[in-house]
Amino acid sequence: MTDSHSPLALDVLVIGGGVAGLWLLDSLTRQGYRGLLLEAHQLGSGQTVASQGILHGGLKYTLSNLVDPGAKAVAQMPLIWRDALAGKREPNLSKTKLRADFCHLWRTGSARSRLGMTGAGMVLRVKPKEIPKENWPQALKNLQGQVYNLPEQVIDTASFLTDLASKHTHRLLKIDADNGVQFKQDHAGNVTTVHLTHGDQTLSLAPKQIVLTAGKGNATLRKMLNLDEQAMQIRPLHMVMVKGDLPKLNGHCTDFSQTRITVTSAVASDGKTVWTVGGQASEDGVKMTPEALISHVKSEILAVVPNVDLTNAQWATYRVDRAERHTTHGRRPEGVTLIHDANVITAWPTKLVLAPQLADDVIKQLSGSPTGPDDQMVAPNWPRPTVARPPWEKVESWLTVN
Ligand SMILES: Cc1cc2nc3c(=O)[nH]c(=O)nc-3n(C[C@H](O)[C@H](O)[C@H](O)COP(=O)(O)OP(=O)(O)OC[C@H]3O[C@@H](n4cnc5c(N)ncnc54)[C@H](O)[C@@H]3O)c2cc1C
Repeated sequence: MTDSHSPLALDVLVIGGGVAGLWLLDSLTRQGYRGLLLEAHQLGSGQTVASQGILHGGLKYTLSNLVDPGAKAVAQMPLIWRDALAGKREPNLSKTKLRADFCHLWRTGSARSRLGMTGAGMVLRVKPKEIPKENWPQALKNLQGQVYNLPEQVIDTASFLTDLASKHTHRLLKIDADNGVQFKQDHAGNVTTVHLTHGDQTLSLAPKQIVLTAGKGNATLRKMLNLDEQAMQIRPLHMVMVKGDLPKLNGHCTDFSQTRITVTSAVASDGKTVWTVGGQASEDGVKMTPEALISHVKSEILAVVPNVDLTNAQWATYRVDRAERHTTHGRRPEGVTLIHDANVITAWPTKLVLAPQLADDVIKQLSGSPTGPDDQMVAPNWPRPTVARPPWEKVESWLTVN
């Protein structure tokens, strides 16, 4: 076992094991870099496991503004993921469960929403295609309007994290972020050593570069490294979950520039279907109590999903912050954002789907050649992080609503 007297030389130390950190570690390893990843809680426990797992192709952005650069940034991404999920490229994600191979897209009847849909079709790589009425999903039968097929796959985020992490178990270390990590920096701000302690074990690492992919945790890490912690913004969401005898539905109901609700479906460990409901409702819900938001979302669902019975449904909510690079306007950054200080890169993907882009952007900024991956198990007795549980598995008591 490596001890504190002989620091382990690394090309890159990645801190934070959500989609960004894991995809980056995988890309680094495939390109011959010697890397390790440190995780403070469970893999993906910030945003990734709480996200809806939609591999967006830009529709949400084009609805409001046809030339939004955010749409261009994500346009290529679903194709990269599609090939990875099919096992046709690395990382091979063929063990990741798909919740849906495409999303449904339907709209409320306003003329403004029709306009938005036309615009989306004009600029997207993945275009919505009208679905004949006889093929509409059960939940949308009897809808007054059109239903489209939007080729955005939906992944089961926990199984994705498990799949990608399983290729790198020997490169993942669980850390005590509050008391078990010490950074040593030289006069120029370069991190020279990272000293880890866990119980009576110690481990010293000497990374050439460090990449922070800790989501919201990047602010605290930057503070520890004497870097500007204000460089990050958080945008909160209040999400609703509804569980019961529900039909499977994955997609967006749009109304002009807004995604009125976004629904994704999963099967909980008790065998029941759970819908996670986001979209405008989850932004509006930030200031609401769980009860008020549930009541609002229930009326939204009944207004836009014509064929669903919510009589015996159970409800819960969760709050989660999106962590991103600070923008002056306070809205979503256009794409992946990186900050490079001395030998530390701080990275936020902005969207789960942009993780491949983040890995490419970070690797372009690395200096020095890869020294070759080390396939040996680092610190065999050191604790390894597990994968975070999805939000519906953590609910203590579900609510019923009249
Ligand atoms: C409700 C919601 C729905 C979303 N839906 C979608 C969607 O459908 N499609 C899409 O493309 N994007 C979506 N997003 C955005 C997407 O989830 C995020 O952009 C992405 O998951 C961020 O990944 P990350 O790896 O940067 O951060 P995170 O997933 O937050 O991971 C950070 C990791 O760092 C760890 N960590 C924190 N502090 C430390 C520390 N000090 N030391 C070590 N480790 C630390 C955390 O435990 C965590 O594992 C959604 C976001 C939310 C909140």
